[in-house]
Amino acid sequence: ASNRHFFVGGNWKCNGSKKSIRELADLVNGIQLEPNSGTQVVCAPPFPYLDFVRSLLKKEVGVAAQNCWIHGNGAYTGEVSVDMLLDLGVEWVILGHSERRHIPELHESDETIAQKTKRALDSGLGVILCIGELLQEREEGKTLDVCKRQLGAVAKVVKDWEKVVVAYEPVWAIGTGKVATPEQAQEVHAVVRKWFSETVSPQVADKIRIIYGGSVNGQNCNLLAGQKDIDGFLVGGASLKPEFANIVSSHS
Ligand code: PEP
Repeated sequence: ASNRHFFVGGNWKCNGSKKSIRELADLVNGIQLEPNSGTQVVCAPPFPYLDFVRSLLKKEVGVAAQNCWIHGNGAYTGEVSVDMLLDLGVEWVILGHSERRHIPELHESDETIAQKTKRALDSGLGVILCIGELLQEREEGKTLDVCKRQLGAVAKVVKDWEKVVVAYEPVWAIGTGKVATPEQAQEVHAVVRKWFSETVSPQVADKIRIIYGGSVNGQNCNLLAGQKDIDGFLVGGASLKPEFANIVSSHS
C-alpha cells in the first residue's frame, strides 16, 4: 500500500436474494467509514438488485455493476446500458472479470472489454478493470505478457485513466482458495505500474490504483496490503461474509 486511496471492492457475483442482500447491506453499513476514510469501499451486486442495494447502502459506499452493454440504449434485448446504470446512481462497473473472459458461453475478448471500458468511462462511470493470467499461462512464463496484452487493448482506445482501478486477478487464484503470495502479487503489480509509466505516463503510473483479487480473506489480507504496489482488493467469496469488514480495515 502507499498514499494512494486504498480501494476494496466486493464482487457478489451471481449470488443473493432480497433477504440475503438486505442482511449483507446491513453488514457493510456497519463497517466504520469516515467521510474522508483511508479506504474506499464499493459493492457489486447482480444487475436486478442494483437499485435496491443503492437505496440500502450508506452514501460512503459505492455501488458497481458487474458488467455493462457495449452500446447505448436500443434494440439489444437482454442487455443493460451504461445510461441505465447511471440512472440508478451506480458509480462503477467491473469489466474484464476472468469469469466473463473465460467462461465459454461468455468468452469476452480483449477488444470487447476495451470498447466497454471506453463507453463506461466516456459516460462518467468508474471502471474496475480486471486482468490476469490462467494457470497454464503462469506455468509457461507468460504472466506479464498476458497482463500487458490485456491492458494494451484498453490503452488503444482509452486515453484518460483517472477513473480506472486495475484489478490484478490471477485466474488460478479466483475462487480456489489458492491466494497469490504477497511477493507474487507485488511482482506483477510493480510490472503493471512500470507498464503504465512507460506506455501511458509516469503521472498515471503514480496515481492509478492497482488492486489484487483472488482468494483474499480476513487472514491473508494484511500481508498483501503491506506490499508497496498493492492499493486494495477485489474480493469475491469473502465479500459475502462478515470478514469483509476485516479486509476493508487491512490498510491502516
Ligand atoms: C473475484 O470474483 O473477483 C474474486 C477475486 O473472487 P474470490 O475472492 O472468491 O477468489
